[in-house]
Parts: sequence; structure tokens; C-alpha cells
Amino acid sequence: MKPIIGINGNVGQSDYEASTLSVRSTYVDAVLKAGGTPVMLPPIPDREAMLAQVEACAGFIFIGGPDIDPARYGEKPHPTISRLPERRESYDFALIEEAIRQRKPFLAICLGCQQVNVALGGSLIQDIYSDVDTQVQHTIKQAPYLLRHDVKVEAGSMLGDLLGVDGLSTNSAHHQAIKQPGKGLRVVARCAADGIVEACELENYPYGLAIQWHPEYLVAEPLHLKLFEGLVRAATAESLAAQR
Ligand code: MN
Repeated sequence: MKPIIGINGNVGQSDYEASTLSVRSTYVDAVLKAGGTPVMLPPIPDREAMLAQVEACAGFIFIGGPDIDPARYGEKPHPTISRLPERRESYDFALIEEAIRQRKPFLAICLGCQQVNVALGGSLIQDIYSDVDTQVQHTIKQAPYLLRHDVKVEAGSMLGDLLGVDGLSTNSAHHQAIKQPGKGLRVVARCAADGIVEACELENYPYGLAIQWHPEYLVAEPLHLKLFEGLVRAATAESLAAQR
């Protein structure tokens, strides 16, 4: 059985692309490689249809992208912010809130990690280089499959148990990061050199993992593939439970 893993789609940014709803093949292929059935969830402005999308999925990937409107965590926008298209921002938050309400497994990546945090009442560092004194290169869009910094993983966390290591090297393509963790989120990994939050997990939850790096580019390495395999395992259990 290959459980259905919903992947939220992106909305094109320019006028020309604005009608294109899409998902990068790296996310799709990572879910496939981990044994799941990837299904793209196009952002839709219809609550009933969104609920049917959530119902149809046994687990979720919440993908990366540009920045959340800081008004969602009570701040004015920093000049470096590049905003999500409104269609995607409102859909993503509705989707994430409903998936969590239904306690469905998820792996949230980069922007997805930040969205889960804000959906649960947390806040963000709007621009790492404006707020934090660090030499670490967190914000590198080029060659996203290259490793950029080390991450320390907390022993005894779900993430630590899943990976079976207390640290790993990751890529890094974010200029924002988690400041105050949202309700129920536990910080379980930080950048080894500067302490920037690199992963959180939802406690007492069947696989709710929010990570700041991009493991979908790194699934050739077993350690990063495990993040997707863990999701597929939890989603398999979820869909078996739903059949009963
Ligand atoms: Mn980083």
C-alpha cells in the first residue's frame, strides 16, 4: 500500500505565471522514493473542497516558498520580505490548520515549517542577517543540493530517534527562521554554529515534523530520505486506522 501524500501547490508570481499552479518534481520524487503516492493539492478558494482534499490524504508535505505576511504574528514587514501570493497564503493556512486539527501526519519544509509555526501562534525572525550576528550561510538559493552547515539534533526527540544520530549536515535556503515556537511545538534541532532553529516537532502527535532545510534535494542520502520514509510510515498507519 502506498498512502496518498498531499503536496500543496505553488502559485506563479508574475502576471503571466499567475494561473500556473505547480509543484517541484523534487518533492514529488522524494515522496515516491519513500514509498508514498504523491498528489498535488492545487490551492483553491473553497473551504468545502479543501476539506475534501484533506479527507483524501493520509499525510502531507508542506512545501517551501517566499514569506508569510508578518501581520499574522503581529509585526510590520521588514524591507527584505517577499510575500506569498494571497491565493496561496490563505489556502496554505486553511490547509495546515485543518490537517493538524485532524491529526494527520506531515513533513513541513522551509516556508512550510514557518507556516506551521505561525499557524500554531509562533513568530519568526523576519531576516536572519538583520537580526542575528552570524557568519553561517543560511540563505543560498543556488545549488540547493549542496550541504551548507551542520545541525545539532536533540537526543530523545522524535527526530533524533528517527535519524539515529545527534547531528547532520544540511543545505540551507532560508532568510527567515523560527523565533518563538508555536503552541505544542518543541525545538528539536538547531544550527550548530549559531543556534538558529532548524527543526521543530509537534508533541503527542503522529508525525508532525517541521524542518528548515530542504531534504527533498538530498534523498540520495539515506539520512535525509528517512524524513520522508517516516512520513510515509505514519501515513500508512493513519490510512489503516481510517479503514477500520
Ligand atoms: Mn539553515
